Amino acid sequence: MENSEKTVEKVIILGSGPAGLSAAIYAARAELHPLLFTGTDVGGQAATTSVIENYPGFPEGVGGNQLADLFTKNAEKFGARFEYDMVTAVDLSRRPFKLTTYGKEYFTQSLIITTGASPNKLNIAGEKELTGRGVSYCATCDGWFFKDKKVAVVGGGDSALEEGIFLTRYASSVTIIHRRNELRAGVLLQKRAKENPKISFILDTVVEAIEGKDAVSGLELKNIKNGESNTLAVDGVFIFVGHSPNTDLFRGVLDLDEKGYIRIDERMRTNIAGVFAAGEVADSRYRQVVTSAGMGAAAAIEVTRFLESGE
Ligand SMILES: Cc1cc2nc3c(=O)[nH]c(=O)nc-3n(C[C@H](O)[C@H](O)[C@H](O)COP(=O)(O)OP(=O)(O)OC[C@H]3O[C@@H](n4cnc5c(N)ncnc54)[C@H](O)[C@@H]3O)c2cc1C
Repeated sequence: MENSEKTVEKVIILGSGPAGLSAAIYAARAELHPLLFTGTDVGGQAATTSVIENYPGFPEGVGGNQLADLFTKNAEKFGARFEYDMVTAVDLSRRPFKLTTYGKEYFTQSLIITTGASPNKLNIAGEKELTGRGVSYCATCDGWFFKDKKVAVVGGGDSALEEGIFLTRYASSVTIIHRRNELRAGVLLQKRAKENPKISFILDTVVEAIEGKDAVSGLELKNIKNGESNTLAVDGVFIFVGHSPNTDLFRGVLDLDEKGYIRIDERMRTNIAGVFAAGEVADSRYRQVVTSAGMGAAAAIEVTRFLESGE
């Protein structure tokens, strides 16, 4: 391993979603010259969605990718630095903290963790084998491949309905499959989806397997009320069944809650002084761009105070 000269950063930020990028803007404006590791998903989850209609200041909505670009430019303008790399190990046992990427070690006086969350899998037959061949977790990324084709969406929350509506731009039909009798999505979204002539719903139903040899050809469904099974012919399936926090790096290192989210106090502080967390990695409740961005900003303000205090 290349052993870099031991430069000690004032603050390192892990993650380039709304929380990380907002933290970078605030830390850069506080002249902390932050170094941000983007991870593999540049722009975070927000960048994978077609349009965001509830981030203040964009009455016509804004593309997820476009918003991430604007956040990035804003942070760069004030001097934030970006590494397009992934942190693979952390040593938070003493300060400066040590972070390791695939080829290098970095040291920092403080750390803001904004590693967000990743989509949950169904863990059923065919899912892994057919990922990228009809199984997808991102409608914006893959919707285009399903022009005039039949697709299914699994899930009943906001993401499932938003992405289902987006898929009607391309697909000839979108069947939304949900295991409960009622959808969890907001009322306005439900209304829009129900009014869309391309969308239909199959409720009280789970997907038991995804069929197909080289590409998805259908889904094996089971009605959980009457136990009946049947097959739905589709060319693609988009899965939106919640998220899990990206906290594997911090297991046994930081206090996590029972679902694996980082425990923080109202000042974004973890149980280790100098280590802060913000956004979805520490928030299973609100999970929005605006709330994640707000937490990122708060974490950077707290880092500034922490460094000034000389604690
Ligand atoms: C399909 C979809 C549609 C959505 N629509 C909306 C919407 O309309 N409005 C809204 O407000 N919210 C929406 N959301 C939710 C919103 O995107 C999230 O709340 C927000 O992105 C969370 O931001 P975050 O910065 O906390 O984490 P994330 O966006 O999850 O970003 C995490 C970042 O951490 C990085 N990372 C992970 N591990 C490492 C590591 N080891 N080293 C370095 N970096 C790492 C990743 O690469 C990524 O950049 C949507 C989400 C999805 C999936």
